[in-house]
Amino acid sequence: MTDWAQVVDAHGAVGRVPLLLDQVERKEAPEAWDELWDRLCLHGETVAVASFAALPRLAALASACTQALELASAIVRGTLRHPDGEALLAGCPNEVDRLRELVDQKLRTRPADYSRLFCDLLALAGQYHWSASLGDFADDFYAVSCPDCEAEVTIAVGNHGCYAAIRDWDQGDIERRPLRPVPAEELGDPGRWMHATADRDGQQRLAEGIRYVFGRAECPACGNVFNIAEAHTTANVRPAP
Ligand SMILES: [Zn+2]
Repeated sequence: MTDWAQVVDAHGAVGRVPLLLDQVERKEAPEAWDELWDRLCLHGETVAVASFAALPRLAALASACTQALELASAIVRGTLRHPDGEALLAGCPNEVDRLRELVDQKLRTRPADYSRLFCDLLALAGQYHWSASLGDFADDFYAVSCPDCEAEVTIAVGNHGCYAAIRDWDQGDIERRPLRPVPAEELGDPGRWMHATADRDGQQRLAEGIRYVFGRAECPACGNVFNIAEAHTTANVRPAP
């Protein structure tokens, strides 16, 4: 059992979270959700020990309560923002699996907020880096560093084109080189299951975008062809604290 007297929330306080969980479990006070968000996922990103301690109770509510599912997913998305996040999350593997299943079920219904839920799914699958950085490929830019010459390369994937370029403050994206998307059948994980999930749910733009970010780019500065996902992951292994 959790000793809530020892567990601090995102405000450094103890005691309020278990009371608020009691209230939402009894459906007494819908406004308690606002304070729960504030104490467990401050500004939608700052998590605390109490956030992870609350996950089992949120997961138990999540199948019947969208707010519980959203808050639990947001907490998991914040895992790397807490120094002990991964260790704390490792304490509730069954709840994480359950949440992942629920989010996956929602994705199959092709909801309007598909790309946000997709990033929830990525976090619940342990893909925190992609959860934090993947867009919807309407208008996405990724800054990477060329592994050979270390030039800063802008990768664009969206309606304006799919290219590698050097970003110039005055002239915009110059020296553009077309990206080389990977064929779906050659994708390795996590790109393979990300693509398969988006494809399953009829999200063609997302599925196509995944083939691009897991594909290769030619560096406009040195001509070296490199793996975009590897360069991007190396540059963003952990978010800034
Ligand atoms: Zn280069």
